[in-house]
Amino acid sequence: MTIPWLVFFSGMLGLSVGSFLNVCIYRLPLDQSLAFPASHCTSCNRKLSWFENVPVVAWVVLRGRCRTCHAAIAAVYPLVELFTGVMFAWAAWRYGPGWLLVSRLLFGCMLIVLFFIDLRHRILPNVITIGGTLLGFILSFVTPPGWVSSLIGLVIGALIPFALAEAYLRLRKIEGLGMGDVKMLALIGAFLGWQLVLLTLAVASVLGSIVGLGLIAARRGDMKLALPFGTFLAIAAMFAAAAGEPIVQWYVGFYR
Ligand SMILES: [Zn+2]
Repeated sequence: MTIPWLVFFSGMLGLSVGSFLNVCIYRLPLDQSLAFPASHCTSCNRKLSWFENVPVVAWVVLRGRCRTCHAAIAAVYPLVELFTGVMFAWAAWRYGPGWLLVSRLLFGCMLIVLFFIDLRHRILPNVITIGGTLLGFILSFVTPPGWVSSLIGLVIGALIPFALAEAYLRLRKIEGLGMGDVKMLALIGAFLGWQLVLLTLAVASVLGSIVGLGLIAARRGDMKLALPFGTFLAIAAMFAAAAGEPIVQWYVGFYR
C-alpha cells in the first residue's frame, strides 16, 4: 500500500519542482537570482498571486494568457511541470524509497534544465555541470553505480569527448564539441557510471546525426549552425538511466 501513495506524492511534488525548474531554465542563463524576485509575468512584471503559481492547472484555467496584460504564456511552462511530475511518479514506482530515488530525481531535474537551456541559449551552465558532477560522485558512495564506476565514468566521460574535440579542432580548425558538452558528460558519468555514459554518448551521437540529416534533407539546416549536443545528451542520458541496464547486460553477454 505504501508504493501507490509514494507514487502519488512523488508525482505531486514533481509538479511543484517542475515550476522551480521553469524558473531555473528562465533565470540561470540571464544570471538572475533563483529566489528573488518572486514569480512575475515576464510581459507586465506583475507579481503572480498564489493560484497563478499552481502547476499546470493555472495555465489551463487562464488559457495560456496573463490575467492582466493578456500576453501569451508559452505552453512549454506547463509541459515542463507535467513532464517533471510524470518523471517523479515514474521514478518513485521504479526505484521505491531510498537514496537511488533521490539520486535519479536530482539527475533528472538537472537534465531537464540543461535540455532547455542548451536548446535556447547554446550554453550549459557550470553551476549544474560541475556542481552536478560533484554531487553525483558523492551520491555514488551510497547508490549504484558505486564510487569506482562513478569516478571512471566521470573521467572517461570528460576525457573521450575532450580528446575528440581537440582532434577535431586540430584537423579541421573548427570547434566540434564545446567544453560545456565535456563537463555535461562528466556529470552523466558521475551519476550513471562508465558503462552507461558510453551508451549515452553513442545514443546521443546517433540521435544528433538522425536529426541533423533530417534537417539537411528538409533543407532547413544551415550546415554551420551547430545543433545543441547537450540537448541530445539530455535525452540519451534519460534513456540510459531508465533503460540502459539491460542493454549493457546484453552487450556484455556477447563477450562471455
Ligand atoms: Zn502580464
